[in-house]
Amino acid sequence: MQDGITLAKGQRLGRLADALRAAFGLAVDVALPQLCASCREPVGSDGLCPACWSKVSFIAPPYCERLGIPFPYDPGPGVLSMEAIADPPTYRRARAAVRFDDVARALVHALKYGDRLDLAPMMGRWMAMAGRPLTTDADAIIPVPLHWRRHWARRFNQSALLAEAIAKACGVPVVFGALKRVKATPQQVGLSQSARALNVQGAFRVSPSGKAAVEGRRLILVDDVITTGATVDACARVLLRAGAAHVDVLAFARVVAAARPPI
Ligand SMILES: [Zn+2]
Repeated sequence: MQDGITLAKGQRLGRLADALRAAFGLAVDVALPQLCASCREPVGSDGLCPACWSKVSFIAPPYCERLGIPFPYDPGPGVLSMEAIADPPTYRRARAAVRFDDVARALVHALKYGDRLDLAPMMGRWMAMAGRPLTTDADAIIPVPLHWRRHWARRFNQSALLAEAIAKACGVPVVFGALKRVKATPQQVGLSQSARALNVQGAFRVSPSGKAAVEGRRLILVDDVITTGATVDACARVLLRAGAAHVDVLAFARVVAAARPPI
């Protein structure tokens, strides 16, 4: 019974939210009671219920110095993962807050496709914590851009929302518009590693007006999920070519294959 009342109330609030959203934009999302982004149980102001929260798989050391891929045991300082040695990235270091599992996928999807913009501050805080080794020597944060057509269809860039939340937590400013996605690439989902790299080739460019914000600066590139790293690698390449001092990568989640010992 209680559930029925809560649901009906939730539906009414949902309709009210739709009407308010249509009239005033997205700002109303924050003020309304929410459902857990993963299991859809009602939760006051938090993004996740306690049960789903306890399932979040935070990435913590020991991990690969370079890629941030967690190690099943501590091999000692400075040891790199197999991936970092076999296929060194263009960027300097990457870190991610959580492993890309069911709860992480639900959070990313809710933010990206579910209008759950209220999740960005929480996700950004987790990223700022995971990215502390990077933010201590950074000049600016740059979100991975969407192509303007996708940006227009979605109305917001999820990476930009996360970048803003990280900036709030660590004080490093966000630079918008310096990096552009000039090629409307198909989604990377379902593509192999080499197909992903090919897909994003030539997709990004530093805008003429953005050059000053990039040249000589220590940058942190922000994305929602690192799968093979092809997208952030393509971005880092053009930022370095435009004169960035170095580029680090900070993602919300990273796809981690089964536990693999370091070399
Ligand atoms: Zn839940």
